Amino acid sequence: MNQKGRAWIELDLHNLHHNVEELRKAAGAGCELMPAVKANAYGHGAVPVSRALAGDGITSFCVASLGEGIELREAGIRGMILILGYTSPADFPELLNYNLTQTVVDAACADDLDRCGRKLGQRIPVHVGIDTGMHRLGERSSDLERILPLWEVDGIRIDGVFSHLCVSDGITERERAFTMEQIRKFREVVEKIHSAGKSGFKTHLQGSYGLLNYPGAGFDFARPGIALYGAYSLPEDEKNTVFPADLRPVLSLKARVETVKMLRAGESAGYGLTYTAPSDRKIAVVSAGYADGVPRNLSNCGHALVKGQKVPIVGRICMDQFTLDVTEVRNVFPGDEAVLIGRSGSREISAAEMAQAAGTISNEILSRLGSRPERIVFTQI
Ligand SMILES: *Cc1c(COP(=O)(O)O)cnc(C)c1O
Repeated sequence: MNQKGRAWIELDLHNLHHNVEELRKAAGAGCELMPAVKANAYGHGAVPVSRALAGDGITSFCVASLGEGIELREAGIRGMILILGYTSPADFPELLNYNLTQTVVDAACADDLDRCGRKLGQRIPVHVGIDTGMHRLGERSSDLERILPLWEVDGIRIDGVFSHLCVSDGITERERAFTMEQIRKFREVVEKIHSAGKSGFKTHLQGSYGLLNYPGAGFDFARPGIALYGAYSLPEDEKNTVFPADLRPVLSLKARVETVKMLRAGESAGYGLTYTAPSDRKIAVVSAGYADGVPRNLSNCGHALVKGQKVPIVGRICMDQFTLDVTEVRNVFPGDEAVLIGRSGSREISAAEMAQAAGTISNEILSRLGSRPERIVFTQI
């Protein structure tokens, strides 16, 4: 089957390699990257991305679920794999079977892990989550009487302590002050754990924006996701980050023009007849839809590139198709490429630009790319 037959994703692993180098600079000496390859590596494909990262010397990875960790192990990925969120206690034995590291999301989770570890006569490797202000996972950094006893739990082995920043992408004074306070609280709790005589664990706090806006914060690891894929969450972030990283997009999303037709002035097209041609228009029907990851919110407001020209999406995005107004583009024929994310000639649409048009961030756009588009890996430019 032609991999580029209908709708497909192209991955440029040279750009991934380049982004790793850029983020290593932001991390500074002594801080290693522990990339977030959750959600199928933000839609890119967890296995090819993790293999490429391993080839770049990366030895630690973050995923969101047990299944994502198992997928990497079965593909032969070695090193540390941290599950950032919830695992059902019924599945805890799999952590040991696959040598996966679990986040302790609270003291009750540690009790459940303890029961499983003791029953199997082993210590389950964990990283302890600490809440420094996001109020999602982890015990509060001030609750040392709940944090320190975790080191006395027999069924776990604490290899790491981490927290998560929640407004590190923000540039207002208030957001920066909040983040500085999160960093201070995390440093303080780590110091207090050390002074209580506990050691032998790694620390990590920053995701992509933590690295880009608070470079060189000085922890053992950082957990970049979106930046590693060469995307900003929103277009304006590129000029706002403190560290001037040169990030290059890893992913392109492309599809085929299926058919080209004329719409007479006053005729409407698509589900709900939401688009009415103001004059005679030339319309291209394209072979990708929301089941491929093109958000339905782009109906009548997104853009795509055809033959190096930027053209508007008209009408509703369907499950498997959408329509473009290509009146201004000469010589458009069935089989031509339509680029939703990526380059065509000298024009480019970034994931962030598409996300902004759809009222979301690139993280969501990329992680929701469907399983239907074929992933095609390019290591040569
Ligand atoms: C998803 C996630 C990351 C990566 O976030 P980016 O903003 O994409 O870099 C890091 N840490 C945690 C806890 C996460 O859930």
